[in-house]
Amino acid sequence: MHCRDNCGACCIAPSISSLKKPAGVRCEYLNEQYRCTIFNQPNRPQACSGFQAEALFCGNNRVEAIQILTHLESETT
Ligand code: SF4
Ligand code: SF4
Repeated sequence: MHCRDNCGACCIAPSISSLKKPAGVRCEYLNEQYRCTIFNQPNRPQACSGFQAEALFCGNNRVEAIQILTHLESETT
Protein backbone atom coordinates (compact mmCIF):
# COMPACT_ATOMS: atom_id res chain seq x y z
CA MET A 1 0.00 0.00 0.00
CA HIS A 2 1.00 3.64 -0.34
CA CYS A 3 1.56 5.72 2.73
CA ARG A 4 -1.58 7.84 3.21
CA ASP A 5 -1.60 11.62 3.50
CA ASN A 6 -2.28 13.25 6.86
CA CYS A 7 -1.51 10.14 8.91
CA GLY A 8 1.80 10.15 10.74
CA ALA A 9 0.67 7.34 13.03
CA CYS A 10 4.03 5.58 12.71
CA CYS A 11 5.74 8.80 13.80
CA ILE A 12 3.63 9.03 16.95
CA ALA A 13 2.57 5.60 18.28
CA PRO A 14 5.88 3.68 18.40
CA SER A 15 8.89 4.47 20.52
CA ILE A 16 12.05 5.28 18.53
CA SER A 17 15.10 4.75 20.66
CA SER A 18 17.59 6.55 18.42
CA LEU A 19 15.46 9.68 18.75
CA LYS A 20 14.74 9.04 22.44
CA LYS A 21 11.10 9.28 21.42
CA PRO A 22 8.71 7.58 23.80
CA ALA A 23 5.68 5.68 22.51
CA GLY A 24 2.66 7.87 21.94
CA VAL A 25 4.66 11.07 21.64
CA ARG A 26 4.76 12.97 18.39
CA CYS A 27 8.21 12.93 16.77
CA GLU A 28 9.90 16.31 16.87
CA TYR A 29 10.49 16.05 13.09
CA LEU A 30 6.84 15.54 12.18
CA ASN A 31 5.32 18.73 10.78
CA GLU A 32 1.75 19.97 10.96
CA GLN A 33 0.92 18.22 7.68
CA TYR A 34 2.13 14.94 9.21
CA ARG A 35 5.18 14.86 7.01
CA CYS A 36 8.71 14.07 8.04
CA THR A 37 10.90 17.17 7.85
CA ILE A 38 14.13 15.13 7.65
CA PHE A 39 12.85 12.55 5.15
CA ASN A 40 15.88 12.63 2.83
CA GLN A 41 18.46 13.56 5.41
CA PRO A 42 21.11 11.30 6.91
CA ASN A 43 19.90 11.86 10.45
CA ARG A 44 16.59 10.17 9.70
CA PRO A 45 16.72 6.97 11.78
CA GLN A 46 17.06 3.60 10.09
CA ALA A 47 13.98 2.51 11.99
CA CYS A 48 12.05 5.08 9.98
CA SER A 49 13.56 4.44 6.56
CA GLY A 50 13.06 0.70 7.05
CA PHE A 51 9.37 1.05 7.85
CA GLN A 52 7.10 0.59 4.83
CA ALA A 53 3.39 1.23 4.71
CA GLU A 54 1.56 -2.08 5.03
CA ALA A 55 -2.10 -2.71 5.66
CA LEU A 56 -1.15 -4.97 8.56
CA PHE A 57 0.34 -2.00 10.41
CA CYS A 58 -1.40 0.96 8.85
CA GLY A 59 -4.98 -0.31 8.96
CA ASN A 60 -7.70 1.39 6.96
CA ASN A 61 -7.31 4.84 8.41
CA ARG A 62 -5.22 6.91 10.78
CA VAL A 63 -7.17 5.94 13.92
CA GLU A 64 -6.75 2.24 13.13
CA ALA A 65 -3.05 2.75 12.48
CA ILE A 66 -2.58 4.41 15.88
CA GLN A 67 -4.48 1.56 17.55
CA ILE A 68 -2.52 -1.18 15.77
CA LEU A 69 0.88 0.42 16.28
CA THR A 70 0.13 1.20 19.93
CA HIS A 71 -0.88 -2.41 20.47
CA LEU A 72 2.28 -3.70 18.74
CA GLU A 73 4.39 -1.36 20.83
CA SER A 74 2.91 -2.72 24.05
CA GLU A 75 3.44 -6.29 22.84
CA THR A 76 7.12 -5.72 22.09
CA THR A 77 8.17 -3.84 25.23
S1 SF4 B 1 1.11 4.59 9.69
FE1 SF4 B 1 1.30 3.86 7.58
S2 SF4 B 1 -0.04 5.16 6.36
FE2 SF4 B 1 0.35 6.17 8.32
S3 SF4 B 1 2.08 7.53 7.94
FE3 SF4 B 1 2.90 5.59 8.73
S4 SF4 B 1 3.37 4.38 6.92
FE4 SF4 B 1 2.02 6.03 6.27
S1 SF4 C 1 12.17 11.06 11.88
FE1 SF4 C 1 10.59 11.43 10.36
S2 SF4 C 1 9.87 9.39 9.74
FE2 SF4 C 1 10.99 9.16 11.67
S3 SF4 C 1 9.43 9.29 13.28
FE3 SF4 C 1 10.26 11.34 12.96
S4 SF4 C 1 8.89 12.33 11.50
FE4 SF4 C 1 8.55 10.11 11.39
